[in-house]
Amino acid sequence: MGSGQVTSSEPFDFQGKHVTVAGLGVSGVPAAKALHGLGAIVTVVNDGADERARAQAADLEALGVTVRLGDGDTLPEGTELIVTAPGWKPDKPLFAAAEQAGVPVWGDVELAWRLRGPDAAPWLAVTGTNGKTTTVQMLASILKAAGLRTAAVGNIGVSLLDAVLGEEQYDVLAVELSSYQLHWAPSLRAHSAAVLNLAPDHLDWHGSMEAYAADKGRIYEGNRVACVYNVDATDKPSTEDLVREADVEEGCRAVGFTLGTPAPSQLGVVEGILVDRAFVENRQKNAQELAEVADVNPPAPHNIANALAAAALARAYGVPARAVRDGLRAFTPDAHRIAHVADVDGVAYVDDSKATNTHAAEASLAAYEPIVWIAGGLAKGATFDELVAKSAKRLRGAVLIGADRALIREALARHAPQVPVVDLDRNDTGAMRAAVREARKLAQAGDTVLLAPACASMDMFANYNKRGDAFADAVRELGSADG
Ligand code: ADP
Repeated sequence: MGSGQVTSSEPFDFQGKHVTVAGLGVSGVPAAKALHGLGAIVTVVNDGADERARAQAADLEALGVTVRLGDGDTLPEGTELIVTAPGWKPDKPLFAAAEQAGVPVWGDVELAWRLRGPDAAPWLAVTGTNGKTTTVQMLASILKAAGLRTAAVGNIGVSLLDAVLGEEQYDVLAVELSSYQLHWAPSLRAHSAAVLNLAPDHLDWHGSMEAYAADKGRIYEGNRVACVYNVDATDKPSTEDLVREADVEEGCRAVGFTLGTPAPSQLGVVEGILVDRAFVENRQKNAQELAEVADVNPPAPHNIANALAAAALARAYGVPARAVRDGLRAFTPDAHRIAHVADVDGVAYVDDSKATNTHAAEASLAAYEPIVWIAGGLAKGATFDELVAKSAKRLRGAVLIGADRALIREALARHAPQVPVVDLDRNDTGAMRAAVREARKLAQAGDTVLLAPACASMDMFANYNKRGDAFADAVRELGSADG
């Protein structure tokens, strides 16, 4: 990185500094305002110049911020620091120009990290390909149950900048971080952090699986108390490999979580109980009961893993066992994440519209049996062979919708030829209703009809929320119709 004052992790004096904010939008506008308020001379550059961008630009210009619309690739003269939107790809020409000029680049998380006050709340940080939001919310719920002032922040709900600069006082923050945010956060040092799992995702942005894993692994850099990793995820690089590669504070421990019986320095499950063999006296011999599997909502395997990761971070912070149990009991998942919609004729209907990639769908398919699976949408370059091969024996049938459904149909033909498949060639507003009706025909009492699309929704719906709502509406219609 470049030279000079701005590359140090010390508090930085923005007074009179030329700072370029790359990208308007969710993080750019508040960043520009905060920097302007700190006395920086701010220029915002943005690729687009649509109506929304023009409105945001007018708002900022009224404050005295310079905005250049339609050119996100020219480095403004005199720039001493770039604060970028997390989604901007590292191979953009703006960053090449910055590197050449020795100008450092921070993301929104780095900015928040640098702006926090001297007595700021420590961060318990979570990343992973899937389960981040759920885990961070569980963690916040546990911390609250322990009587701590906290919030779930980051790539979720409250922005980090608001949490750091706002009036509210926190004891500790539960922070969700995406791989993009981690890429642009070189000096972040969490109290403790967890990488939940690692499956190929966003590789077009990062360039390779190695680069993606390396960015995720940054979350462990400088941890003080615990680096929490997934014992059961052994694909290479494993989350444990990332811990091994990290440079941490002396005394910081590697703490694993597993769905099996925990070894010393791990949290795991024994006979339906979540147990801690890491944060106890004499961990060779002792274990502490934390909660029952039934306290986890829903008690699906991947979600128990999320609960264990949240518990590990909370315990690293010193939270008592009872608060783990109370916090897990108080937690309810966000909509469209393995949400039980209704039982109709003895068949459970479950909405996991948020399973927008194959890794997430694999987790929810592993949670039920037998399943009538509703899948399809935009595949985003994914292949389905592994997912179908692993899940084949659980499938009663499949109903396929959406633009890329042929890819799933072909994988089913290869790995599950015995499974009946209904291929719905329609994308009108009634398509989900038709899918649910077809699923009902395939299902038998005791089965689960599971919407776990393994695909993005935008070919047929505005977003995954709308897709899940359409599913739930169709299920309720089934329930109210006679027979
Ligand atoms: P994220 O914030 O990482 O997108 P969410 O908590 O919103 O994660 O969950 C997204 C989807 O990922 C869920 O609907 C579920 O299908 C799946 N999921 C949740 N936790 C896990 C996990 N630990 N492993 C695999 N898949 C998971």
